[in-house]
Amino acid sequence: MSGDNKNPYDNICSQLEICTTQLGMDPGIHEILTHSKLIHTVSLPLTMDNGEIKVFTGYRVQHNDARGPYKGGIRYHYEVSMDEVKALAMAMTWKCAVIDIPYGGAKGGIVCNTKEMSIGEKEHLTRRYTTAISQFIGPYRDVPAPDMYTDAQTMAWIMDTYSVMQGYSVPEVVTGKPIELGGSEGRTEATGRGTAICLRECARSLDMPLKDATVVVQGFGNVGVHAAMTLSSMGCRIIGLSDSRGGIFNPEGLDPSKVLAHKIETGSVLGYPGSEELTNEEILELECDFLIPAALGHQIHEKNAGNVKARVIVEGANGPTTTEADEILSKNGVFLVPDILANSGGVMVSYLEWVQNINRQHWSLTEVNQQLESKLVTAYKNVWDMKEEMGVNMRDAALGMGVSRVANAIQQLGLFP
Ligand code: GLU
Repeated sequence: MSGDNKNPYDNICSQLEICTTQLGMDPGIHEILTHSKLIHTVSLPLTMDNGEIKVFTGYRVQHNDARGPYKGGIRYHYEVSMDEVKALAMAMTWKCAVIDIPYGGAKGGIVCNTKEMSIGEKEHLTRRYTTAISQFIGPYRDVPAPDMYTDAQTMAWIMDTYSVMQGYSVPEVVTGKPIELGGSEGRTEATGRGTAICLRECARSLDMPLKDATVVVQGFGNVGVHAAMTLSSMGCRIIGLSDSRGGIFNPEGLDPSKVLAHKIETGSVLGYPGSEELTNEEILELECDFLIPAALGHQIHEKNAGNVKARVIVEGANGPTTTEADEILSKNGVFLVPDILANSGGVMVSYLEWVQNINRQHWSLTEVNQQLESKLVTAYKNVWDMKEEMGVNMRDAALGMGVSRVANAIQQLGLFP
């Protein structure tokens, strides 16, 4: 699922290679890290509403659990592939280590187009998938969460199916649930909110004023919406926004809550009053202070990276920039806050949800947001300090931090037998 043809797994493996070379890591440990510990492929037969039987393919990849149970979302998209899920599972391992929460990394996906499915078909597919992977997940084994085109309702179906199979209610088997079922306050907004916090910290560290800073957001889904709203409330000017159908631009600024209301009403951001229409490619090339790619992977690649005019890129999506693009951007002096830090707010609050669930507690929104804020500010500072210490860019610093924490855990556990 990418804007170019590069294999996402090759891309993350080349990032890992650059990082382990910089760290002077034992080649054996590097070899362990390039492999996923467990890979599950399941076929999911389903009777569609019209009576036809279709067979869907689902994946759950468990990359590494040296630091704790596997953790990561499940995405539903027609371009989901095994290599993409493997790459995203590996990214989860680094992400959880960078923000220092006690989890490993996993990812799941089903190859399907939810836009063409009824709610009943989505429910049955989710329940069938849960049944197929039920022996590999669990509160202390692997804890799924939402990702692209899955949400709190999807998590409720997984929780219910898993609980029916266990014979008792197990809310802690998934995070990102509806609040009524043990979901955490603030979880839905957490990824976008976290992206906004990282952008604010970045502005502070680069001495850029936040007030009136121009921001462009590619992707107006859960991450983009909440990032734009939070940044707007921090005083930034959102000048460009886009969804899968195209983008809108207004140099005077767009009100993200009004754009969202327009999108809910019409199905797209396009046609928002007072805005100019752009393509999804053009939106990435707008002149701005901060560009937030918050849509699909590999949107910034070898061919368009040279046209990016933003001063800073804050990666709200997973893997929006290829390694070739990274090189071009860094030559052009574009500062980049990498995905494993910039979109880690989601899994951070997933962790808080899991802690609440296993302790049978429910915290207030203020408490959750305070923890998110303080943990992310610390993570940003740690990555910045590592960047200064190692003389590398933010991506390599974040990866270096995540990868070395996982490598230390593997070394301390030792190899069995
Ligand atoms: N899917 C989200 C991510 O890529 C959240 C994962 C989680 O909460 O476990 O970070």
